[in-house]
Amino acid sequence: MSAKYIVRFDDACPTMDKNRWQRVENICNKYGIKPIVAVIPNNNDPKQMKDTFDEKFWNKVRDWQDKGWHIALHGYDHVYISKNSGLVPFNNKSEFAGLSFEEQANKIKNGWKIFQDNKMKANIWVAPSHTFDENTLKALKEYTSIEIVSDGISLFPFKKYKFNWIPQQVWRFRKMPFGVWTGCFHPNEMSEKEFNDLEIFIEKNHQNFINIDKLKYKKTCILNIIFEKMYWFLRRFK
Ligand SMILES: [Zn+2]
Repeated sequence: MSAKYIVRFDDACPTMDKNRWQRVENICNKYGIKPIVAVIPNNNDPKQMKDTFDEKFWNKVRDWQDKGWHIALHGYDHVYISKNSGLVPFNNKSEFAGLSFEEQANKIKNGWKIFQDNKMKANIWVAPSHTFDENTLKALKEYTSIEIVSDGISLFPFKKYKFNWIPQQVWRFRKMPFGVWTGCFHPNEMSEKEFNDLEIFIEKNHQNFINIDKLKYKKTCILNIIFEKMYWFLRRFK
């Protein structure tokens, strides 16, 4: 048994840094990697305005989709309006967590409509800043066909709140003995060193990058539970 890896790239939108995104695309092409790409349907976050507005953005995303990349719904406008940390408490800023079901449902419906209008076949949810709650999941269930959440801390993919969860635990890869590890990267902000480190890791380990369609989700797993408890406990001392 060896560890499996998944790479996720966050914050694709029409004003993303085109050169930096092209670099991660080249790496994926070279090694046949099919990443998860978190796409903001209607970005309004000034921090993601890195380049001129790309009128052909959705053509680009459709090209990714046609190559077998996994497109994820990444919130609606990426603007933080609450201080709630939700179900995966890394941060206390949120576009969703703590808002009423109706407010969240409106965002989800509007984002999903933009995805449908642009022929996205998204099956994954990625919350901006990891912050979402049970109402977010309820709205996703009711107004989208999304079945997978890319988030949470565990060793292996799991089932919870009627969704399949692919844990996302690292922000740079290193060799692990076992487990399924999602590394999250923000191409808009990546440094030269981060591009190089990512490419070196993928070059050495590309045979252990798994296509997410092949994942199995565990209902209960004692290793997952222990790992999650240890993770949050140790994080308090960081
Ligand atoms: Zn984001």
